[in-house]
Order: sequence, then structure tokens, then C-alpha cells
Amino acid sequence: MHSCGLKGHILQHFHQDIDGLTQRLGDILREYYTEPEAQPVFPKMSKADIVASIHQPKPPSSGLGIAGALDLFRERVLPASVKTWHPQFYNQMFAGSSPAGVFGDALASMLNPTLATWEMSPAATIIERDVAGWMGQLLGMPKGSSGIFVPGGSLANTLALAVARYRILGSEVNQKGLSGRRDKPVILCSDASHYSVSNAAMLMGIGTEQVIKVATNHRNEMLSEDLAAKLDQCEQDGLRPFAVVATLGITVTGGYDPLREIVAVCKGRNLHLHVDAAYGGGVALSKQGPALFDGIEHVDTVTWDAHKWMYVPLTCTALLAPNPDILKAAFATNANYLFHPQDVDMDLADDLGNYTLLCGKRFDGLRVWMMFQAMGETYFRELADDRMAFSQSVYEMLRDDDEFVPSYEPVGAIQCFRYLPGAVADAPVTYQDALHRHIRETLKRSGEMLFNISKLKGRDHFRAILINPLTTRDHFRAVMAAIRTTGEAYIAENPVPAFDQVG
Ligand SMILES: *Cc1c(COP(=O)(O)O)cnc(C)c1O
Repeated sequence: MHSCGLKGHILQHFHQDIDGLTQRLGDILREYYTEPEAQPVFPKMSKADIVASIHQPKPPSSGLGIAGALDLFRERVLPASVKTWHPQFYNQMFAGSSPAGVFGDALASMLNPTLATWEMSPAATIIERDVAGWMGQLLGMPKGSSGIFVPGGSLANTLALAVARYRILGSEVNQKGLSGRRDKPVILCSDASHYSVSNAAMLMGIGTEQVIKVATNHRNEMLSEDLAAKLDQCEQDGLRPFAVVATLGITVTGGYDPLREIVAVCKGRNLHLHVDAAYGGGVALSKQGPALFDGIEHVDTVTWDAHKWMYVPLTCTALLAPNPDILKAAFATNANYLFHPQDVDMDLADDLGNYTLLCGKRFDGLRVWMMFQAMGETYFRELADDRMAFSQSVYEMLRDDDEFVPSYEPVGAIQCFRYLPGAVADAPVTYQDALHRHIRETLKRSGEMLFNISKLKGRDHFRAILINPLTTRDHFRAVMAAIRTTGEAYIAENPVPAFDQVG
């Protein structure tokens, strides 16, 4: 090797046969994307084996070179990882990732800008603004809607509620905080809303007890008449509601809070209406979208995770507003900033750091931009329609089988369901729950399929997210067959207790 020191050492990696390295990386990507079922969806290794294979108590003292590190990734990390691109992966509100998004990720890391200031990221700033604007349009938000990208829906919800606090409780709250107030600020959301709403209340000094939970229907969708009743009750109790959160794409069920009705209830009450469409934003692109997003033109802020139904690599979240200046008003560190509510056009060449709490801000929008450039809007629309139709067919397969019970008719491609053959249907809930947990755990360990389990109205339900573009009806048929076989074996070993035995 050469004289060199540190600089030469870094450069050495670049000069090391770059074609060979890109080919090695290409091999990993090709294998992963073109042979999605080659490896088990869940690692078929014990916890101890995973630890033994991965854990390194100390950093390596001498390097293997990039080629060696890639080989190590392929040999060790891949087998011990969950394959979210596997067609039998139903476990999360995302599935896989798009190769175009992966390349966007790599190139964003290569440029490595921070989007806090325009000066550091001229092209990146405009791309993020444009992409956020496109997302607002796709949801049907008013002209001029745009926003910022932040790491995750949980943070976006938190920022939205901080904007709500600033707008509705008065801008001085940013300086004075909440102490010394006579009123008690409260947030209203449904009892099935994402836990990040409560976390935000905790962080903002509102307190989780000041999050009032509105009742929901069998699909976990907010009952707007209960929202109205709870708001009236707040008034009688001297509380100060300042934000209502509607969820479009409810975490457990994929359901939709009735936005148009919620807008009507909130009208004239001086509230900030935030829409948490972290998961459900993707449905806006399907034929059913416009009906489910009816009323979106009246909301104040929207969270949309592009890393869920848009197949963008994690994390990639847009926090959108009809007038994005409200974000700047709430977060700009310059206390002299003058807020102009009538301005709807953002200055494209602005410092995005002023619209969020982030200082080092990753170039998240490039992944979405790459995907739209590569595939076009039509691709996303067709995929959304295709997966909505697929989820309906899964519902019908479950409904038409005597031993399965779909928990509701799906609206957002998440299907909860239960396996209740013969006597199990009348068995105590504890028995049914134990059966479901046993089946899910057994099939997870098999490495063949990974669906989730969740409480819904107090009982364990299987939960399958059906947005994975690779999953077919045959795949889901195999899930039902495996549940049946595993369930029958469990029931044979653990006979269903008669009701009088449990007293
Ligand atoms: C996933 C989800 C969130 C949280 O988003 P993250 O990106 O995981 O932080 C919030 N709300 C809803 C409705 C979600 O589905």
C-alpha cells in the first residue's frame, strides 16, 4: 500500500475495484428482490443463535474492506433478519421497500446534505417542497398545501399538536408554557387512536390524563355523536379543548374516522383539526379514496407516512398543512418572524429548519421523488386499487369459510379475523385467546408466514396487513390452511372446556 495516513486509507476504499463492489451490492439487491421467498420470512434461528452470530462486544480493529463487510452482511445479517419483502409478510403497516426508493436512499446518503438551510441544500429543499406539495394534492388538500418531512408519524403527530397548541391556546404559550393558566387544555381523539397522541400530550406538558378518548364502533372508527357530546361536556367542566385528532387508516383495523362528520362537529368551536393518515394516506389514491377523505379540505394539519402504503424505505413522513406557514410560525426560532396567514404560496427557497424542530435534517424526500420519477403516479394508483380489491377478496375467503370469522368488512386493507371452528366459537374467551396466541407464535417460528395478533374490543384477533404487492390469494389460502392445521393440533391436545367447567 501507500504512504498516506487517514486520507489515503479512506480513498483506498473508493479505488478498490468500484465495479466489483457495485456488482456485489447489485447481487445482494437482485437476490433479495427477485427471490423473495428464498429465505424464511422470520429467521429460523433461536435467539441464542442470532446473538451468537451477530453480537460483537468490541469494534473490529482492522477492517475487512467494503467487499468483506458486504459479505459479512450477506452471511450474517440477512439470515437473521425479518424479510419484509416476503409475500407471506403481513405483520406491519408497511411491506418491503421499492428498489427506486432504495437507490434514492443511497444517493441521499451520498450527497449527505442537511435540509435545515436552503444554502446547504438548494436542490433538496425544492424537491422536498415539491414532493410534500404532490402529497397534499393526492390527498385532495387545498391548493398551496405542502409541508415538511420528519422522521416518523409519531413525531409528525407531536409537531402537529404543538402547532395546535400555539395556534389555539395563543402564541405566548411558546414562551410562558402552560403553568399559570386557569383553563385546562385537552386533546380529543378516539379510543383507538395511535399512542403517539398520548405521548405528545406527555411531552408537551398537557398530560396524558388530558387526552379525552371518544368512543368507537366495531371497526374502531370514531363515533362523531360521542365527539360532540364529549366536547359539550368539556365546556360544562370548564376544560379547554384545543385539538381534535381524526385517524384515517386506524392502526389496528385500517378503518376511517368519519371525517366529514367530524369537520361538522368541530365547526365554529375554535379547534385545530389534525388528521392522522400515517397509514391511511395511501388509500386516497384508490377509487375509494375521495369518499374516505371527504372533508380533507377543512383540516389544519395532516400526517402521512410515505413509508407505509407508498413502499418508501423507513422513515419517510410528511407533515402537511393547507398553509405551511403555520409550521414556521410555531417553530421558527427567530422570535421576530412575522406570520402572514394570507400567504398560501411557500417561498420555495426557504430554510426548512424553521418548519420543524430538526437541525440536522435528512434528505427524506428524495426517496419519494425517485419513486414518482421511476414509476409515475399511475403506478401508485393502480397498486392502491389492486390491494384494495385484494383485501376485499381476502375478506370474502374468510367470510365464506365456516371456521373463520372476519372481524369486519375492511376499508383500508387491514383484516382482523378469528379462527373459531365448531365448539371453539362457544368456548370461553381465555381459551380462544390462548388458541390464537399459540397459532400465531407457532407459525411465526415456522418461518413460513408472519401475520400479527392484536386486541380488538378486548379479544385477541389475528391481524393481516394486506398491502404487500407480492401477496396472492394462494398465499392467503396457505395462511388459512396453516392456521387450521396448527389449530386442530392444539385443540386435540387442549380439549375445548365446556362452559359449566369454567363456572
Ligand atoms: C404507524 C402510525 C403512526 C406512527 O407512525 P410512525 O411512523 O411509526 O412513527 C401514527 N398513527 C397511525 C395511525 C399509524 O398507523
